[in-house]
Amino acid sequence: MINSIKGLLLTLVSTMNGLRSPVTRQYPEKGTLWKREEAPTPVQDRFMGFPALTWDGEVDEPFCTSCMVCIRHCPTQCMTSTMKDNPLQQEGKSTRRKIVDSFEINLNRCILCGICVEVCNFDAIVMSHEHEMSTFQRNGDRVNLPVLLEIGTKFQRETGWIPPTKRAKPEPEAAPAVAGDGDTEGSESSS
Ligand code: SF4
Ligand code: SF4
Repeated sequence: MINSIKGLLLTLVSTMNGLRSPVTRQYPEKGTLWKREEAPTPVQDRFMGFPALTWDGEVDEPFCTSCMVCIRHCPTQCMTSTMKDNPLQQEGKSTRRKIVDSFEINLNRCILCGICVEVCNFDAIVMSHEHEMSTFQRNGDRVNLPVLLEIGTKFQRETGWIPPTKRAKPEPEAAPAVAGDGDTEGSESSS
């Protein structure tokens, strides 16, 4: 009985405008009935949108060497790539002997699993925040190298992305004291 009244009250409060702020939002617009503005739903930093390729600003070339590791691991086989000799390496400006020449991902088949990012050893691919890419064509979301780099550099710019291999490693935690090892008077520091 009390629970029924509680439920009824909650429904009444939720129904009356102004007493409770909404937990849902109108997508992709916000504002009042009279003044609407485009406002895509913001995503969290950890959000995993479509995969994209990153740009090495220090050398001015993609990170991707087209090594094919991500392509071999992709469970939906939605990626293809080709490589070429790197002209910047021949000029002594880059350490990458090979560089990506073409890259394509069929985003319609991508399941956003993130495996390609996990297996890449070259910081070359990220799960971007891009998610609004619906098209009316069956193959409308086959994206090529320039588009993948454009999405990737946008993600790098907006998130202040640092290549995972250059991020500071966390300090290793101190090993827990083993019972019976040395002074058994407890774990308090002697200092
Ligand atoms: S994104 Fe990474 S794993 Fe995939 S081809 Fe490029 S360098 Fe290799
Ligand atoms: S996120 Fe998963 S399905 Fe999508 S391209 Fe990467 S490995 Fe393939």
